[in-house]
Amino acid sequence: MKYFVPSETYQKISDISLDYLINDKKIKGLIFDFDGTLSIRKKISIETLNFIKKSKERGLKISVLSNNIHLSKALIKILSINTIKKFAFKPLKQPFLKMAKRMKLPPQKIAVIGNNRISDILGANRAGMYSIYIQNMNSFLYKRKISKNLKHIGIKHID
Ligand SMILES: [Mg+2]
Repeated sequence: MKYFVPSETYQKISDISLDYLINDKKIKGLIFDFDGTLSIRKKISIETLNFIKKSKERGLKISVLSNNIHLSKALIKILSINTIKKFAFKPLKQPFLKMAKRMKLPPQKIAVIGNNRISDILGANRAGMYSIYIQNMNSFLYKRKISKNLKHIGIKHID
């Protein structure tokens, strides 16, 4: 069960402390999930773009690992990330370890950032990487899950 537990949890990417990751955890690279993490409802927020920019300025290597077959070329271009693997078969360990090789970093120096506890967090933990779970409170799936639970206690609707 411990494999499902992330090292850290945040509501959005921009809440992540780069100082903590770099200085305390000795992280040298970030592997991002795409859908629901970098791109939320097919949009990339200014805060996320700034975070990527700051990470690059601090010398972190950045990549995208996605299970999706199609990634929007336009969005990838906006992010200017060149190390990308789509159709990755997360949570298998292999795609994470292969990406570590491409980034020329040992798995322990990499933090995986994703919004799925299975494909991203379980996969990262099994690969020996630091795992950061993005629990996007505004996502459609999250709201659906919450409203289901609220219905049980008599609350019918949330915005
Ligand atoms: Mg995702």
